[in-house]
Amino acid sequence: MLNIVLFGPPGAGKGTQSTNLINKHQLIHLSTGDLFRKHIGENTELGTRAKSFMDKGNLVPDEVVIRMVEDKIEHHLESNGFIFDGFPRTIAQAQALDVMMESHDLHISGMVALVVPEEEMMKRIRERGKTSGRVDDQDDEKIANRIHVYNEETAPVASYYKDANKYNEVNGVGSIEGIYESIEEAIGQF
Ligand code: AMP
Repeated sequence: MLNIVLFGPPGAGKGTQSTNLINKHQLIHLSTGDLFRKHIGENTELGTRAKSFMDKGNLVPDEVVIRMVEDKIEHHLESNGFIFDGFPRTIAQAQALDVMMESHDLHISGMVALVVPEEEMMKRIRERGKTSGRVDDQDDEKIANRIHVYNEETAPVASYYKDANKYNEVNGVGSIEGIYESIEEAIGQF
């Protein structure tokens, strides 16, 4: 199984590159943001709980996210692997993911971190907000908070994978095809 953590700040292009990777490697896309938006669309209890955090650009509590991811993994144990997109976003989530994978005799093959400067992130999120319909893409204050939360709570997750020798950095600025090629190169070394 190929199990990739696609990492990077909001607006780094994780969703776009996930699509390319899924098509090539037949992987299951596990985007926690997409899963929450699906719950919100279906008006579930989990969706209502998540929405109150998402609308402000804050993280949904770890235990809620972890339970949702566990459920998704357990439904796809026969797949070629997973792309984790937007997860893990805290050290506690990264630790929980390792425990979950190990309990199924699986492991994370590696992390690919997309590196994008802060001004570029802002620009891309504002642009996406014109068509995404996402409340959290349309307000500079919310965007700024997401970037702040990323720097404070999520960026340290990279060190967790560095310590495990699973960290690979890719420049997230350039053409979509060029970035995709660099990701494939990184994955080839897993
Ligand atoms: P995304 O689509 O990945 O940008 O996520 C949108 C929002 O969903 C984030 O700003 C968080 O509020 C929430 N979210 C998504 N993934 C996670 C996660 N792994 N941990 C906590 N909150 C998350």
